Amino acid sequence: MRTFQLPGDQVPVVAEAELVVAGGGSAGCSAAVTAAREGLRTFLIEDMPFFGGMSTGGAVGTYCGFYVRERDDSMTPSVGGLPLEIAQTLLERRQAYGPVPVQESAALPYVPWGVKRLLDELVASEPNLTTLLHARLTHTRFRDGRLDGVVVETRQGRLAIMAGAFIDATGDAALTRACGLSVVRHADLQFPSMMFTMQNVDTQRALQNFGQLQTAIEESFEEEKLPRRGGHIIPTGRPGEIQVALSRVSFEGRPLDASKAEELTAGEIEGRAQAERLADFLRRKMPGFEEAFLADTATRLGIRETVHIEGLYSLTGEDVLGLEKPVDGIGRCAWPMELHVPGGETVWKVLPRGEYYTVPFRCLVPRGAENLLAVGRCISATREGFASARVIGPCMLEGQAAGIAAVHAVRKGTAFPELDVGAVRSRLSKLAVPL
Ligand SMILES: Cc1cc2nc3c(=O)[nH]c(=O)nc-3n(C[C@H](O)[C@H](O)[C@H](O)COP(=O)(O)OP(=O)(O)OC[C@H]3O[C@@H](n4cnc5c(N)ncnc54)[C@H](O)[C@@H]3O)c2cc1C
Repeated sequence: MRTFQLPGDQVPVVAEAELVVAGGGSAGCSAAVTAAREGLRTFLIEDMPFFGGMSTGGAVGTYCGFYVRERDDSMTPSVGGLPLEIAQTLLERRQAYGPVPVQESAALPYVPWGVKRLLDELVASEPNLTTLLHARLTHTRFRDGRLDGVVVETRQGRLAIMAGAFIDATGDAALTRACGLSVVRHADLQFPSMMFTMQNVDTQRALQNFGQLQTAIEESFEEEKLPRRGGHIIPTGRPGEIQVALSRVSFEGRPLDASKAEELTAGEIEGRAQAERLADFLRRKMPGFEEAFLADTATRLGIRETVHIEGLYSLTGEDVLGLEKPVDGIGRCAWPMELHVPGGETVWKVLPRGEYYTVPFRCLVPRGAENLLAVGRCISATREGFASARVIGPCMLEGQAAGIAAVHAVRKGTAFPELDVGAVRSRLSKLAVPL
């Protein structure tokens, strides 16, 4: 391949932190706010102009993995600490409602705008936390298994931030890859989707006739070349507003690989085109949508999966369905395995009511690095294990646990692979995290 050589660069160091968190999505914000609350001088880097990642920019619309649906149909929180605080604040502000039952589990529909502002407030209220938006991590200095600094591209050029510990919350393992560490790409990625918002919906009629959605999709799937054989319409709780989850974006007939620039570009455009077609479909086929309009698509294509770190352990489908609770478990999850597979189908494998598994800390520890953890979408997991743990509840729990782990590692000078996970669990218990 032809190459283009850049001259050597002297990058100004703008901060000496104790912890750098790369990626300000659900997992990264949880990690950064937790670590800062525990007293660690933390620096959070985010590529987008706002926090929340897929939860805001992807407008995914519901918080899943926050509750265990019990046998008597009551809901018990499976999260504690910061994720529960976030959920409760949104409920108090009427920017979320529920939990509503879904597939033997539960979801909390939320208003993406509410999440965006709440994360702004949480991040801004921590004196130990410095943040940069519009800052894309591009380079690292990684030697003999240790990272000591990262470089971000910003509007004022390249800036370096030094630290003793690092958390990769980029969803795409961007920090891990920048260190040259190996990552895993599953043969069958989950399909991306473009979420979109419709307004001026008669939500009452739409919900009363919800059963008609599935029939309409089945009747029109072939003829209208619909991308998905099912899906959801999610009222946000604001008058006349519905988030629509009916899209599915492929590239040359297979799941689009969002780590490829060309495919991601095509996917963004195809996602918006799908939204327009699907909005038209809803207007024609779904009672309550006759006068509705497509307010906007999500800011960015919703990416479920790209690559995973190669961790000390990979969460498996057997762990999920076997309700495994390892000694280094750092948070509960009761969300089913939810696989977005070819043919427009979604395959669900549910956990029994009232049951859950826990995510092992080892899934957060990349092989070959002493002072790096990964959280959220890029943890170490098989295709099936990830199909459950990818939702926002466990992503936030992993972030929270990684934030606590960073405090212990930095204060004691311990490498993450040798960390006393018992001490992390004990601190999580004090924060009322069910383990
Ligand atoms: C269409 C869709 C629907 C979904 N529905 C639901 C649902 O209803 N409920 C649910 O709980 N989950 C749902 N999920 C899954 C869930 O949204 C994600 O798995 C979860 O939000 C991932 O959180 P995260 O913090 O790990 O990653 P992300 O939210 O992807 O955050 C990663 C952040 O890192 C930033 N970043 C990336 N690279 C860099 C870099 N180099 N430098 C700086 N910053 C960087 C990104 O901009 C982003 O803000 C859905 C996912 C999709 C795609």
